[in-house]
Amino acid sequence: MAEIEVLDKKIELNPIILEVGQVAQALKLETYIVGGYVRDIVLDRPSKDIDFVCVGSGIKLAQAVKEHLGTEAKLAVYKNFGTAAITYKEFELEFVGARKESYRSDSRKPIVENGTLEDDQNRRDFTINALAISLNKDDFGALIDPFGGVEHLAQKQIITPLDPEVTFSDDPLRIMRAIRFASQLNFDIEAKTFDAIITQKERIKIISQERITDELNKIILSPVPSYGFKLLFTSGLLQIIFPEMAKLHGVKRINGKGHKDNFYHTLQVLDNICQDTDDLWLRWSAILHDIAKPATQRFHEQAGWTFHGHEDLGAKWTPKIFKRMKLPLNEKMKYVQKLVKLHLRPIALVNEKVTDSAIRRLLYEAGDDIDDLMTLCRADITSKNMDKVRKYLANFKKVERKIKEVEERDHVRNFQPPISGEEIMVFFGIEPSREVGEIKNVIKEAILEGTIHNNREEAHQLMVDTGKKLGLTPVNS
Ligand code: ATP
Ligand code: MG
Repeated sequence: MAEIEVLDKKIELNPIILEVGQVAQALKLETYIVGGYVRDIVLDRPSKDIDFVCVGSGIKLAQAVKEHLGTEAKLAVYKNFGTAAITYKEFELEFVGARKESYRSDSRKPIVENGTLEDDQNRRDFTINALAISLNKDDFGALIDPFGGVEHLAQKQIITPLDPEVTFSDDPLRIMRAIRFASQLNFDIEAKTFDAIITQKERIKIISQERITDELNKIILSPVPSYGFKLLFTSGLLQIIFPEMAKLHGVKRINGKGHKDNFYHTLQVLDNICQDTDDLWLRWSAILHDIAKPATQRFHEQAGWTFHGHEDLGAKWTPKIFKRMKLPLNEKMKYVQKLVKLHLRPIALVNEKVTDSAIRRLLYEAGDDIDDLMTLCRADITSKNMDKVRKYLANFKKVERKIKEVEERDHVRNFQPPISGEEIMVFFGIEPSREVGEIKNVIKEAILEGTIHNNREEAHQLMVDTGKKLGLTPVNS
């Protein structure tokens, strides 16, 4: 029997689960599938990660399963944790012995003992994550749902199985997980559970930054991340884990003049960009694009509120924020930094009579990231007035077309100087020096400005002329 029924729905169990069931039965090991996998098949989003729990040794079960599946299965045993994992085809199978956990107040590391299935379900974070399906002979396919998880799936509720204050205090990572699941699944967090998040939020400080950031990234990758961020903000957690972002919240007023609430604006930009991209880093650029607005905010009698230089300061902060968040300090950071720095540039081209040279300069600076920059800018067009948004977007389309034209004609996107430093040195018979750099720069500027075309002949002539002005003479003259 490979079919089970949950919430009046028939669910087909994957054949690999049946095979593990057979092996377990042969060993007379009481075994279940458990946790996120069960939740996800009930939600109709079957995953490839399957967790098995048995009353006994999970490692022993894994070894027998590996034996049964043959050489295609790769087994990894984690003796210290009493767990084992098998990679088989596209599946990731995890095996663990049922356990009982008890926490002491002075440590977040639980004392772990062998336990029953019930003990194992008790230690799980949310009712929807505490479901198990039996793989045993007597009741194969039976759903064991001690806390009403199935009902909560139907109601779209995140609820802890036990007292939420204790659950979150024991392991505060669960606070992040609650908000992450709410955002991924579009679920509510039940009121008492949410209250406990608020009272226990300071405990998050005992969790490593890597794990917090992992969960934050999952929120960012969820379908409508603004929802997760609003939960983070209203619980007060965002103020602890990402104060710069929390500071975007609020509107100052002077002489009746206000401005956009930068927090909700940023969330709108983030949701917008999520319609166009699943890329984590492009989504991060939306989060950070206005991050330095509060720090650059000024009021002027005439102009009202300004945020001059927020793009530069935001770019300056990007590595610091990445470092603290334990995000990679590699080309991903550089990419986000570049987008933050340039995010106003395409918009500026909408309002002016755009010159080709302004477009060439933007292409030169953005390089291959120009399309992502345009995606960010399009997402950045927000207003309560839909007519305004439509008008801006139409103007923006014109800029996009113009950029395409200029790029096709001038090829400055990945600008390679038509004359190399080496050639300049040979031509004038000089060593590496300030003059070489200066000539190269004059050529680059002339091409971007449009005073010469991007080709060797015109660049060569400019090299000759510039060299002369600098008092250099060609070797062959
Ligand atoms: P996903 O794989 O999408 O992140 P998941 O629910 O499978 O979701 P995992 O981190 O893979 O999450 O954990 C598997 C299961 O282990 C969970 O469903 C839950 O039952 C349990 N679990 C994981 N982390 C915790 C925790 N911090 N506290 C209690 N139970 C947990
Ligand atoms: Mg999982």
